[in-house]
Amino acid sequence: MTGQMQRIALASRPVGDPKPENFSLETGPIPTPGAGEILVEVLWLSLDPYMRGRMDDAKSYAASVGIGDTMEAGCVARVLESNFDGLAPGDIVEHRFGWCSHAVAPGKDVRKVDPTVAPISTAVGVLGMPGLTAWHGFNKIGQPKAGETLVVGAATGAVGSLVGQLAKAAGLRAVGVAGGAEKCAFAVEELGFDACIDHRSGDAKAIREQLAAACPNGIDIYFENVGGKTMEAVLPLMNVWGRIPICGMISYYSGAEPGALDVPRLWRSLLVNRLHAQGFIIFDHWDEFPEFVSEVAPMIADGRIKYRESIAEGLENAPDAFMKMLKGGNFGKQLVRVKPETA
Ligand code: NDP
Repeated sequence: MTGQMQRIALASRPVGDPKPENFSLETGPIPTPGAGEILVEVLWLSLDPYMRGRMDDAKSYAASVGIGDTMEAGCVARVLESNFDGLAPGDIVEHRFGWCSHAVAPGKDVRKVDPTVAPISTAVGVLGMPGLTAWHGFNKIGQPKAGETLVVGAATGAVGSLVGQLAKAAGLRAVGVAGGAEKCAFAVEELGFDACIDHRSGDAKAIREQLAAACPNGIDIYFENVGGKTMEAVLPLMNVWGRIPICGMISYYSGAEPGALDVPRLWRSLLVNRLHAQGFIIFDHWDEFPEFVSEVAPMIADGRIKYRESIAEGLENAPDAFMKMLKGGNFGKQLVRVKPETA
């Protein structure tokens, strides 16, 4: 195929919060698929907090993006050309194609998406990586029991919104923490949380007082998405034998937040309350994907699980949407519509 493609590369490594100059929009020829490969056009690009870590040259669970390399991302794409048996032009697939308009990849590595199950954008959202993250952390590490109380931060985001709804469906009390009155109202009125605390409403002590009122029986599961003052507010309210799936700590991704809990106090809290805190990286748990989809897809289809998307238009706007998301500018799963599905 002739023509030009676009991609967004890492231009430089950010110090603190990412800035526009850390990204560059590059143009080049559309690549040609080799044996066993497919050529795709990207329709939906997922923006996720973990990408901030990939911009640093630091040891982590995955390699950094190199300077000049395409920013990493999960995408939903349409097959344009296929040299792979089992995929044909027009098929919809999900894969880590990156921040780009077109890409080639081995056909064996991509996941075919059934557009009849749910809107295809959900393949990188509630029925994709963030959804599996919520489901795994809640069920496998949270070990929920009906009647218990769960607290989750970033409660209206891709992961947190599903965590809270799964908790409600399992008979738990679900209390969210989110940024701003509008997000808190959405969590309660639309997603069915029992309460939601605005983390911008005060310091850790003030948030703890509000959480204590919202959790009269204490907290059994703290689904950790954010760290910072939310974590500081929650820990003293944890019940004995509580569980903490440590999923993410977005308040630290661009640098430490002042006033965070010190390590000896954290360990003491784990000790005296016999807490089970476990970090997890969802890429270790892809084998659970079929079980997750078979449980959650019907709940989406019949309306028991709701999801919300925050859509930026055009690949060139991905950096701006990403920078805003890290600060809470998204309201629901952050996506970039790289190309309209019907065009
Ligand atoms: P979200 O859709 O929730 O978007 C990020 C949200 O984080 C923002 O909207 C904002 O919500 C919140 N936030 C940002 N800064 C702060 C802060 N200083 N204090 C409190 N909240 C803040 O993102 P995801 O659902 O995709 O991700 C949620 C978490 O899950 C992240 O930490 C992410 O890294 C983690 N994650 C971990 C995975 C794993 O394998 N362990 C896989 C996927 C995600 P608000 O406005 O409400 O504050």
